[in-house]
Parts: sequence; structure tokens; C-alpha cells
Amino acid sequence: MDVAIVGSGPCGAAYARILSETRPDLRLATFEAGPLLADPPGGHVKNIADPAARERAQRRSEGPGGSRRGRPGTFLLGGEGLPAAAMSTNVGGMGAHWTAACPRPGDSERIGFLPDLDDLLDEAERLLGVSAHAFDDAPFAAEVRKRLAAAFDPGRSEDRRVRPMPLAVRCDPDGALTWSGADVVFGEATRRNERHTLFPEALVTRVLVEDGRACGVLVRDLRDGGEHEVRAARVVVAADALRTPQLLWASGVRPAALGRYLNDQPQVVFAVRLRDVGPLEIDPRGRSRIVRQSGVSWVPFTDAEPFHGQVMQLDASPVPLAPDDVPAPGSIVGLGWFCAKDVRAEDRVEFDDTARDGYGMPAMRIQYRLTVRDEAALDAARAAVRRAASALGEPLDDEPITLPPGASLHYQGTVRMGRADDGTSVCDPSSRVWGVEGLHVAGNGVIPTATACNPTLTSVALAVAGARRIAEEI
Ligand code: FAD
Repeated sequence: MDVAIVGSGPCGAAYARILSETRPDLRLATFEAGPLLADPPGGHVKNIADPAARERAQRRSEGPGGSRRGRPGTFLLGGEGLPAAAMSTNVGGMGAHWTAACPRPGDSERIGFLPDLDDLLDEAERLLGVSAHAFDDAPFAAEVRKRLAAAFDPGRSEDRRVRPMPLAVRCDPDGALTWSGADVVFGEATRRNERHTLFPEALVTRVLVEDGRACGVLVRDLRDGGEHEVRAARVVVAADALRTPQLLWASGVRPAALGRYLNDQPQVVFAVRLRDVGPLEIDPRGRSRIVRQSGVSWVPFTDAEPFHGQVMQLDASPVPLAPDDVPAPGSIVGLGWFCAKDVRAEDRVEFDDTARDGYGMPAMRIQYRLTVRDEAALDAARAAVRRAASALGEPLDDEPITLPPGASLHYQGTVRMGRADDGTSVCDPSSRVWGVEGLHVAGNGVIPTATACNPTLTSVALAVAGARRIAEEI
């Protein structure tokens, strides 16, 4: 085996895709702890038309027996620091359940030491099938953006003004939406590659390291309990921001920064009824979670206003607000404002050498605290959300709701990249783990900056760089 990839979410899939495209001579394997849900593998569960089949696919993603359910398709880690921290275990990872918002990082969210970041983000957009035009004809979208722009655009650079949210979704001429999951990232190039094999229900319990070099993985077949040693010239661990450091820890790879600098994006939500919007010809009920009426709008992060805002039509609309008050379809929008966390080494996921989790891996415990700066950022985010809400219409509640830590599902920093091996990073700018030859890490955990924007586009971009590096080196 040339390259063993651990985890089949968008980031593991990006390695498989780039290597399939650039080095079809290499033998590749992707090992995924969770079950196969869809054909093609890694498809988004929202594309499953039958509600019962969709729910079954979500349930099958929710981890080992006894795990507590988070948002559909996810299960909770539990614990105090990040009470809403969750994971998905299935082919496609969280990418089979995500909302598919793919904004680009801006200002201090960007990774300053990567000169080719924009090129990598372009490539990530190609892999994920990102479009900013899927909802171009949404009748309320232009109005929503006009109102938000009036409130937020003054003083912003052109690329940071209010705009449609880039989404990993395909809109067919008949209006049907197909959400990108890891299936789109794998693409035909990987599916046609006879030298790539995807192994579902295959838990990697250890990266094999000999003489300071990764040389394979130990895999447990969860269907029959069999253990297999697979030799590989390169190992890529793309097992999410909590389980990537877990697997490194279990393998005896324990750099000082491992699991540290954990950050998620403190989040504030609010709901608004759009003011003065007329009735629509199309009733969007039952069509999709995001409907074409209002689309998804984006208020980008800036250093001056360090939040990422997304405004989208709510699932619940048009549920009656009162017996005689049924909102016009599409006229209730949800506002989600994400903050960039004050990143600190003390915030971390720790692993236990004796206690085990539901997969028999080192049990995780979170140490995590919002700082005074985080509380101030949340206050400012609440003010910004109120400002957005009053620009749009009438809020449904008195005050924005602040979600519990972990609710963003965007965990970062635990295997962060850095320019030098100075104890504050786990990997180099090509995602190669310091001090262990042949070992790469991937996923949101690699992002070193405090971002407020949804991170998947950025992590896929970093995976592209890592995969190109392997393609050159091997
Ligand atoms: P994952 O997709 O989490 O995949 C990791 C995989 O590794 C999992 O399948 C897991 O089973 C597997 N694994 C773990 N340990 C092992 C092991 N030891 N052996 C084998 N396999 C292992 N992000 C955005 O950018 N925009 C959004 O709009 C957005 N919305 C979201 C909405 C929801 C409801 C959810 C759940 C997530 C959302 N996210 C969003 C987050 C996004 O899904 C993740 O950022 C993305 O999936 C990360 O990709 P990944 O490949 O790094 O990890």
C-alpha cells in the first residue's frame, strides 16, 4: 500500500481524490470506522428522498450503542467544557449531514504563512462543487441582502461585503437540489480508480511507527472483530478534530501541542419575520431544509466586525406562530452569528491511557473555557445579530439565543499547523506531523487561526496541499 487514509469525510476524501487524479499509479486505501450509508459512498443524507430511509441513515451515523444523540446524524461526546461537542461515524463523516456553507476565510482568519491559500481554496471549491448561485432566483434573497448590506457594508472591502453564501450544492434546471457530501469530493476520479479501496466499518486503532517513520495502520474490522496490519508508505489521519489527535495519542505520537488550542465558534442565533414581503406563488413546504425563497446570505467576517453571519430560511417556517398567524412561506429567516474563539493552549482534548470510549479508543475529556474576551465577543455578536434582525424585520423572540459551547460543530486547532516545530503546532504547512516521517493529519483540527467562518472549505484546501505534497514526494 502506498497511502492509507483514515476517515472518509470531506478531508480524507480530498486526499483520495487529489492522489487519484495526480498519481493513479499509487495504491490507496481509505479506512472508515462507520457504516456505508449511500451509493455512491459518502452521499449526503439530505439527498435521500424517503424520510424513513433518511432517518435510518442518520441513526446509523450516531456512533456505538449507548452514545447520546446530538443533531441528527451526530452523537455527543459529553462532558462539561463543550457540552454540545459531537461527531458522526459513517462513510462521509459529518459531510453526510452538514449544511454545506463554504465561505472563504478573510482578514485574520486566513493562514498568513500559506502564500498559495487562494489557489488551494479554488481547488477546494472544485472538489466540493461549491456554487454561490444555487439560489440566484430566490425571490426574497435580493431583498434580504439589500437590507443586510445597508446595515453592514459601509466601510467594508469589496470581498467582505454581504453576498450570497457559497454552498456545496448543485441545483438542477428543474429546481432539484443535490447536496455535496464526500461522494462529490471523491468524484469519479476516485471511484474509477481501481487502485483505491474504501473499507467501511474499519476502525484504525493505531498508526504503526517504526524508527520515527509511519509505516502503516492497525485496523479492526468492526463486522467480525478481526485485526489487520496494513503496511503503507504514507498515513493520512483525517478522523475529525477530536479523533485525529486521539489516534495519534493511541499510537504514541504525542507532540506537546496535540489536542491543545481546541476552539469552536461561540454561536448566537435569532429568528426574524421579514418585514413587507409579498405572498409567493410557490409553497416551499416539504421541499428541502433550505428553500429557494430566501436562499442563504452571508455577512463575512472582518477584523473590525469579527463574526461570521449566515442568514437562511428556517426549517420551521411556515409553522403558525399563533393560531391566526401563519407566516408567508419563506418569510421567517434564521440568523446564525459565529464568533472566533480566543485561542489558548489550555483549551484541549485530553486522552486517558486507561479508560476507553465506545470504540475501545483512549477516552476523551475536554478542558475548555470561554475567556473574558470570548464573553465580550459574544456580547458584540448579540448586538450585531440584533442589528441584522432589525434591518430585516421583526424578531420572533426578545433576545438572541446563545448556544452552548460546541454547538457550532466546528472544532479546530487540535492538530494545528505551524511554520516551525516550536511546540505550538503538530504539523508543518503541508500537514506533515513534526518528527514523524510519512504521517499527515487532516481536518478542521489542522486550522491554526481563530476562524469564525464554517471551516470545511479551508480544511479541504489544506488537504489539497497535503495530498499534492505526497504526490510529489512518494
Ligand atoms: P468528518 O467529516 O467528521 O469525518 C471524519 C471521519 O473519520 C468520520 O466518518 C469518522 O467516523 C472517521 N473516523 C474517526 N476515527 C476513526 C478511526 N480511528 N478509524 C477510522 N475512521 C475514523 N461545516 C461547514 O464548513 N459548513 C457547514 O455549513 C457545516 N454545517 C454542518 C452541519 C451539521 C449538522 C454538521 C454535523 C456539520 C456541519 N459542518 C459544516 C461541519 C462539517 O461537516 C465538517 O467540518 C466536515 O465534515 C469535516 O470533514 P472531515 O473529513 O475533517 O471530518
